[in-house]
Amino acid sequence: MIDPQAHLGFVAPDVPPSDVFDRCVRCGLCLPTCPTYVETLVETSGPRGRIALIKAVAEERLDLTSPGFVHQMSECLDCRACEAVCPSGVEYGKILEPARTQIVRAQAPVRTWWARLARAVLIGGLFGKLGWMRAAARALKLYQRSGLRDLVRRSGILRALGLQDVEAMAPRISDRFFIPRGQHFAPSAQPRATAFLHAGCIMHVAFAEWNEATVRVLNAAGVEVVVPRDQGCCGAITIHAGEMPRGRELAKRNIAAFERSDADVYVINAAGCGSALKEYGHLLHDDPAWADRAIAFSAKVRDVTEYVDEMGLPPEALGPLRGIVTYQDACHLAHAQRITAPPRRLLEAIPGLEIREMAESSLCCGSAGIYNVTQPEMAQRLQRRKVDRVLEVAPTIVATANPGCALQIRNGLDRAGGAGIAVKHVIELLDESLAAGRRPA
Ligand code: SF4
Ligand code: SF4
Repeated sequence: MIDPQAHLGFVAPDVPPSDVFDRCVRCGLCLPTCPTYVETLVETSGPRGRIALIKAVAEERLDLTSPGFVHQMSECLDCRACEAVCPSGVEYGKILEPARTQIVRAQAPVRTWWARLARAVLIGGLFGKLGWMRAAARALKLYQRSGLRDLVRRSGILRALGLQDVEAMAPRISDRFFIPRGQHFAPSAQPRATAFLHAGCIMHVAFAEWNEATVRVLNAAGVEVVVPRDQGCCGAITIHAGEMPRGRELAKRNIAAFERSDADVYVINAAGCGSALKEYGHLLHDDPAWADRAIAFSAKVRDVTEYVDEMGLPPEALGPLRGIVTYQDACHLAHAQRITAPPRRLLEAIPGLEIREMAESSLCCGSAGIYNVTQPEMAQRLQRRKVDRVLEVAPTIVATANPGCALQIRNGLDRAGGAGIAVKHVIELLDESLAAGRRPA
């Protein structure tokens, strides 16, 4: 049975479980926004159906580990599009994640040894310790750069093992890592504020260029940047995988690191991580030692697009770029954080860029953490749909604000003959524009 209150803290202690589920009045307004519903047109593959299923489990009319229930809890992308449009204020993510965690717990005793090992390595190792992530990244870099990858791809072994798609989705490891070592990056003039930069787990080894660009753009906005060494993974993937207790430990580590830093804000350039960081207040609300600290922390978290838009860049510093840009709304920026205008304003501020809105820009691309590994069929359907929408506006650049979206769209464009279309973070484009502004005319 699902008891959202017993569960790790996503629902306020004074709210009875029945209120949580009954807040859904079954109006169906969320259905057109739900990626899995619009792809399948099946009621149980939409938010309304999933809420009804969770309620049935909570009322012991349906078994927690029944295959249909487990499938629906896994097929949901946790994209939160339903939450953003719900007139009743159903906080869908806060009932989905408890459901997933309880499935994980119920499945633990019957999990095979290799599944247990894989979870331990992934969740406890790679996402728990940045050193493990760097060791894995170095091995992957060797594979990608040594010629071994071409050999393995040609051998057919990936196809035989069913790993072809997973291998193709692996991010290109950065030439140099962005390791948190207590760096300080000062702007040329007196700083207007100090930002703690969250370097990320995958980000610091596979998107290090985004972190470097973020530092330069923040400095151009007059912001000092600090990168304390005692930070860690935000816990988003750990929480989405149903490992809530581990997620809470990761949250405590980041809160303590921020408190020690004396920074004014905690800045992040990955939408999924930012969403998790902004929800630490909920995650730790039932921990007396951490609840207030978590709320204070979350109030200081800013997505980099939100913060640069707020601080402003000197318009004369921005030089012209050439290109046609379409912006992909990352779910955890648009729906979970409700940030849609700032990244668009930043792009519009860059001279020379033509902006073209694609249809369904806020419909999930199918990335969603490790979704394209756990639900490859639906992930590929959504990837194709997204790429079709991109190609309709014939851009030269797709801009986004999340590494998962960037990987998913890059992979989808490569498959669809769109290899010539660049995929970039909004901050990279701002950084390029600042560099163009520094060049002599
Ligand atoms: S919009 Fe909200 S109230 Fe309406 S069906 Fe969806 S979750 Fe329920
Ligand atoms: S979180 Fe996304 S995929 Fe899941 S039910 Fe809501 S809209 Fe659908």
